[in-house]
This record gives sequence, C-alpha cells and structure tokens, in this order.
Amino acid sequence: MNVLFACPHCSATVRSEAPPQTRPFVCPHCALPVPTLSEPLDQGQLNKCLICPSTDLFVRKDFPQRLGVAIVAVGILASSVAWGFQRPLLTYAILFATALLDVVLYFVVPNALMCYRCGAQYRDVPGIDSHGAFDLETHERHRQHQARLKQAQSAAHLAKANSEL
Ligand SMILES: [Zn+2]
Ligand SMILES: [Zn+2]
Repeated sequence: MNVLFACPHCSATVRSEAPPQTRPFVCPHCALPVPTLSEPLDQGQLNKCLICPSTDLFVRKDFPQRLGVAIVAVGILASSVAWGFQRPLLTYAILFATALLDVVLYFVVPNALMCYRCGAQYRDVPGIDSHGAFDLETHERHRQHQARLKQAQSAAHLAKANSEL
C-alpha cells in the first residue's frame, strides 16, 4: 500500500509506502516527522486515515478526471467533424467507441481510497471493498468543518493582532 498526502507541517505533497520503510517517517521537504503514518493498521485494514486521522474514507476510481474529460471532448469533437462531412454512421461509431472506452477504463482502472478530511490518497489498499463510495453529505460535513476552522483561525489572528496594537 502507498499513500500520497500533503505534509501536515509544510503542506508539500509526499508519497510514501504505508507503513513506511523508515520509522519514524520524516517529510523529505521539511524533515519533520509524521508519526501517525507509522501507526499499525487495525487488523491489517485501513480503517482510518494515517495522516489526519479521520475515519471517513471513500473509494473512487484511480483515474485522472482530466483524462476522462479529454476522452469525451475528443469524442464529441471527432463526431461533430464526421457529422459535418455528412457521415452519420461514422458519427455514431465514434460516439459509441467513446462510450465503450469509458466503460472499459472503468473496469480496468483500479480503485483508490481517499480521505474526506485531508485528501490523502491510498493505493493498493487491503480490503478496499469494505469502504463506501463518495458521499456528498460526509464531504459537506468536512468542508463546513474546515471552513469553520479557518474562520476561527482568522478570528484568532485578528484578536491577536488587535491585542498587539
Ligand atoms: Zn513537510
Ligand atoms: Zn486524512
């Protein structure tokens, strides 16, 4: 299993084996330790994020979204060109091939596990099927929590700045 995450200290993107080969794991950018990453798995399963550590994780296709959009865009473009040349059969063939490619990729591309809270991405996760798919409500809860946290932080900064005046 490996994990891609934002370092909690310096926010740089870090990739590591999980569990890491060197313990305690230190961020290659800021050299500060990320102790949570070295914590053992719960019965060999990843039940909580090794970074933040939230228990809200979701499964998604490990597929770059931009590539998916690009395939559809190229399909639409090519089919409109075919349509412009009055080749309806070719138009449908292109649209069909685009849809087919999407379906094939869906089955070929492996699943990855994502953390709602910190956005850490886990690959080659044991027992990944025990996790649910993306849930908008959970996502919203974390987003609002983050927003409140930010608000509280800026309020604290403001209060500090005021007291220093
Ligand atoms: Zn760092
Ligand atoms: Zn996390």
